[in-house]
Amino acid sequence: MNDALLLVMLGAFGLAVGSFLNVVIVRVPSGESVLRPPSKCPQCESPIAPRDNIPVLSWILLRGRCRSCGKEIPAGYPLVEAANAVLWVVAGIRFGATWPLVPYALLFSVLLALSVIDLELYLLPNKITYPAMIVSVPAVVALSYAATDNPGRHITASLASGLLYSGFLAVMLIGFELVTKKQGMGMGDVKLAVILGIWVGWIEPVLVVYSLIAASILGLIVGVGVLLVRRESRPYPFGPWLAMGAMAVIIWSEPILDAIGLS
Ligand SMILES: [Zn+2]
Repeated sequence: MNDALLLVMLGAFGLAVGSFLNVVIVRVPSGESVLRPPSKCPQCESPIAPRDNIPVLSWILLRGRCRSCGKEIPAGYPLVEAANAVLWVVAGIRFGATWPLVPYALLFSVLLALSVIDLELYLLPNKITYPAMIVSVPAVVALSYAATDNPGRHITASLASGLLYSGFLAVMLIGFELVTKKQGMGMGDVKLAVILGIWVGWIEPVLVVYSLIAASILGLIVGVGVLLVRRESRPYPFGPWLAMGAMAVIIWSEPILDAIGLS
């Protein structure tokens, strides 16, 4: 397939899936169904007509207001749609029209939804982390057979990385709580690390170390920034930085592996 065409298609499907992610982000934490009822205004709950439900474009045309009640529709909605489209295009640039493109684009969407929920509610819902963990196992097995010459090595590396990354975070979490008597990371982060370890480790296990470093740097920078602005300590989500660190390392895995002589 033509590369430009692939990226245009990924952008378009990415927007549509981003629109669905908004539904997931709003409804999953409160236990509602993501399938029905159809989309409604977050303020007045009137159903949104298909012509007002075009990702990003409708929000711009309606100037961020509901057609029925005129109240503001948060910019988070079009931002999530645009962010998912960008992530899918980036996955397309990184993997091209190959087998790994499919699971990694889907992984990026799951991570986007989890990050937004964690930023808003300080939690990573089991209803997303468990299915993602469970689906990841057969998915790496299938991907290893479809896309590599040595499936056994890739499957082992991937599953071991998931266990190691989550095990390491679990030890850090328990240690932190014993020392500070405070809650830091949660079990949600440990479950997230299973998923991240599996997919980062599928490319190359050592990359898990780099994604932890990237996550720590991001978390530290944002954490110090938040503390300076708010001058108070509040619950602080760590999931988004774990997710972003892993995505960054997946996207730049080739230059990283080149630099350490492992490619
Ligand atoms: Zn409304």
